[in-house]
Amino acid sequence: MKGARMSLPTQMAIGMVLGIIVGAATPMIGFNPSYYQPIGQLFINLVRMVVVPLVLTTLVAGAASVGDVSRLGRVAGKTLTYYLATTAIAVVIGLILANIVQPGSGLSISTEGLKAKDVTPPSLVSVLLNIVPINPMDALSKGNMLQIIFFALLFGFGLSTVGEKGKPVLNFFDGAADVMIKVTGFVMLYAPIGVFGLMAYTVAMHGLSVLLPLIKLVGVMYVACLLQILIVYLPCVKFTGLSASQFLKGLSPSMMIAFTTCSSAAALSTTLLGVQRLGASRPVASFSIPLGNTINMDGAAIYMGIAAIFAAEVYGIPMPLDRQLTVILLAVLASIGSMGVPGAALIMITMVFTQVGIPLEAIALVAGVDRIMDMARTTINVLGDATGAVFVSKLENDFDPARGARMAEAE
Ligand code: ASP
Repeated sequence: MKGARMSLPTQMAIGMVLGIIVGAATPMIGFNPSYYQPIGQLFINLVRMVVVPLVLTTLVAGAASVGDVSRLGRVAGKTLTYYLATTAIAVVIGLILANIVQPGSGLSISTEGLKAKDVTPPSLVSVLLNIVPINPMDALSKGNMLQIIFFALLFGFGLSTVGEKGKPVLNFFDGAADVMIKVTGFVMLYAPIGVFGLMAYTVAMHGLSVLLPLIKLVGVMYVACLLQILIVYLPCVKFTGLSASQFLKGLSPSMMIAFTTCSSAAALSTTLLGVQRLGASRPVASFSIPLGNTINMDGAAIYMGIAAIFAAEVYGIPMPLDRQLTVILLAVLASIGSMGVPGAALIMITMVFTQVGIPLEAIALVAGVDRIMDMARTTINVLGDATGAVFVSKLENDFDPARGARMAEAE
């Protein structure tokens, strides 16, 4: 924000640190942690409020301005390939690291009385059929991102083919997209306080004691996330001509929202604008970011690989290579099916566990530290989408940091 003495990421970082301090001190002063909850929830509500109108307007305007079906098909192909490949690499990184460190060795935790629910994955046909909304208004009101993307793309194309008559409609969506960008900016003014509330609540609720027996597992998760950034994202970012620090700085508000809310859906609007300010084109960003938000969850994939090895070790279940290959395949599918909400991967991991014969009670083992791991994986989920958007935009030769800087200037 212009005129403010401190940049938004700095303010958010301060909010986060203050939240940790206040959260840690909460049990000592005997304060009820639930008081912090609405402060954070208000922020989550605000950021989720802008998602549907922002995605709809930018995607319609973006698709209408591309106007060329083969180009959009190309963007879609590149984006999907990138997402699938990086998610598979993510599971492999998690698996290799977990095989080396063996986070579950020497650990035996009683799981008596703890039961976890099984999740049956929907069939592929129904998943694909479900992308087409029977009622687009229903898709909008439910915030079903795949359905919204599908309808917005078709609408945008239709718009680009009706010539003169379509102009006012295009102007409307273009203008509404700019309005939504402004509204997102207003919402972000509350971010430092929201982040404070979320952090204080999490730390006060989950304290450090729950972490100690599982510290190795959490450590492996964070190191694997770091490796994903270093091995996968930064080389892709370098290809666009951006430096690592420019990229991470530009996305720091998104990362902080992801880290504190544990919801990549909550970070969607900030990421969508963040990658455009870095130079990704609007048509590519408005397609890749909402799509990635729904299907690209590299952090969740890393987590599933690590958790599978961890649980197998604790239960003494052998994990030969063929089982680990099954884990890779299923973790990719399960991460695609995960939603951008807190704890989603913890539910979806039952798909992986069931398939390789790990008792579902194992979920209870990791549930205590899930929030701390969710923070890392959500941040990676968001960074993975952002990397995809800048990378594909560069492949499409429409990556332009100067345009991004002008956009940031105009806000
Ligand atoms: N919390 C994650 C997200 O919102 C999903 C998960 O990995 O549980 O992206």
